[in-house]
Amino acid sequence: MADYIYTLETRLSPDQQKAVALVQDAARSAGMNLYLTGGAVRDIISGFPIRDLDFTVQGSALKLQKDLERVGATIGDADDESKTLLLTFPGGVRAEVAMARSEQYEKTGKPPLIAPATIIEDLRRRDFTVNAMALSLNEGSRGLLMDPFNGVADIEAKLIRVLHNYAFLDDPSRLIRATRFSTRFHWPLEERTQLRYDAAKEGGYIEHIRDSSIGYEIEQLAYEDDPVSILKAYEKEGWLKLLNPHWSAARVDAGTLSTLMKTRQQMNELGYVPDVAPAVLYFLTERLADKDVSEIRRAIPRKDLVEAWKDLEDNAKELAKRLSGKEAATPSRAWELLSSARPEMILFLAVTARQQAVVQKIKNFFTKWRQVQQKIPLPEMTELHITPQWPQYAKIAHDVFLRLLDGKLRSRTETLRFLKPLAPPPPPPPPSPPKRGRGAKAAAVAAAAALLGAKGKAKGKSAVAAAPPSPAKPEAAAKPTAVAKPKESDKKPAKKSGHKSAKPAKSAGKTKSKSKGKKKKKEKKKKKR
Ligand code: ATP
Ligand code: MG
Repeated sequence: MADYIYTLETRLSPDQQKAVALVQDAARSAGMNLYLTGGAVRDIISGFPIRDLDFTVQGSALKLQKDLERVGATIGDADDESKTLLLTFPGGVRAEVAMARSEQYEKTGKPPLIAPATIIEDLRRRDFTVNAMALSLNEGSRGLLMDPFNGVADIEAKLIRVLHNYAFLDDPSRLIRATRFSTRFHWPLEERTQLRYDAAKEGGYIEHIRDSSIGYEIEQLAYEDDPVSILKAYEKEGWLKLLNPHWSAARVDAGTLSTLMKTRQQMNELGYVPDVAPAVLYFLTERLADKDVSEIRRAIPRKDLVEAWKDLEDNAKELAKRLSGKEAATPSRAWELLSSARPEMILFLAVTARQQAVVQKIKNFFTKWRQVQQKIPLPEMTELHITPQWPQYAKIAHDVFLRLLDGKLRSRTETLRFLKPLAPPPPPPPPSPPKRGRGAKAAAVAAAAALLGAKGKAKGKSAVAAAPPSPAKPEAAAKPTAVAKPKESDKKPAKKSGHKSAKPAKSAGKTKSKSKGKKKKKEKKKKKR
């Protein structure tokens, strides 16, 4: 059990972990049991990248919509029939929250009868053993794996296996899904599953696929790392024409898609995480007629994905225009413009731009300009006390970077000349370390004596400076600046005078009492007389 908590925490990205925490909170306040299910569990266990999060709740997921929106999730679709939410969490984390349900298939091609169910019943309606596992996200059993079909064994054996003999008959879209997983993971179908698959193919079950499944499976293509190989496999198996009758692998610009994925990888390495899905759909369908593209768009359930795809071209054109205009006339301005642009737009433009000026600026943004950062003289800045702890640091470092980009600071000397007047005043020297043992005792006596001496005099500055700030001593507290910022000239003599005044103070006390005694004796003598 503990193993899966650890795996959950180490395999999910920080943004995915945050999304899990948000769904957990929402489910807990709604009093619903929550599980991580489907591909997320498969990928956590198998070690493949976790592309999206599939959650299942016992109860209607639609009840969580408002709570999840409040914490920053955007809703791509809310299906009233299956009570499922399609969401995107901050950081571009795609998720699905579904109601645990049972499905009863009466006739091929007809939607199943749906009823709310327990998590175990829900796992029975799933497509393949490797996708039919659930990981508890509930207090007290967090990390507990439910695996009624021994999916872990099939992950180890690298096999795609259906849960029962009617899997493809009940829902022919599972044929497409089997091809997709088998191509993506390079896992073959288990022997009997293969027989059922072949029989279903022969029997033309796919003709009975539901419209909603077509849209769902088209959308899934957008999230593949190698969509072209999946598309080719669909074509070979005869599934592609079902998704759209005019689609073919030959109509897809495989070269551009490959550049798109490489550029995304390059951006990931630089810390940008663009959502590539809208661009994948753009290039997969670029050579289809408008009518077909509109049909595909209508079929896709996630409406925010469709909107992002639609906006891609116009937004990229707008960015290209700005990049080739006055607004980006200097490297620093182009840098600022690209830094504030959405990573999706930069990615799309990087692949589609034809104007040399635009192409070059994006290229520089990824490479040459970034290297200029290394010219910022960090060691010298530290010497000048321009360090990240200083509030002005980020602004100054950025300013230097922009000036270096534009060639306004051409050498280290010029850069330092620019930096010096911006440096903060030097910090005060550290307080002298407290003394130990006999030395400390002596110092304490000296400090006390200095304080006494100071009281005796007219509260000398040096004495206050030497005394440690103590709330019990109003004299010291009354002069916080003197304590907080001791001047060297004040501090050193104070120590000395402390030592010196220690003895005289004592002797002064003695002489006083001696002279008092003499006075009393004289007075007694007078009285006697
Ligand atoms: P990935 O998201 O990595 O492509 P996935 O397995 O998560 O793979 P999804 O399409 O996100 O696939 O579906 C989530 C889960 O829902 C699946 O793992 C499976 O358990 C279930 N599921 C989806 N479609 C079907 C289906 N047609 N029949 C049965 N179960 C399905
Ligand atoms: Mg999934």
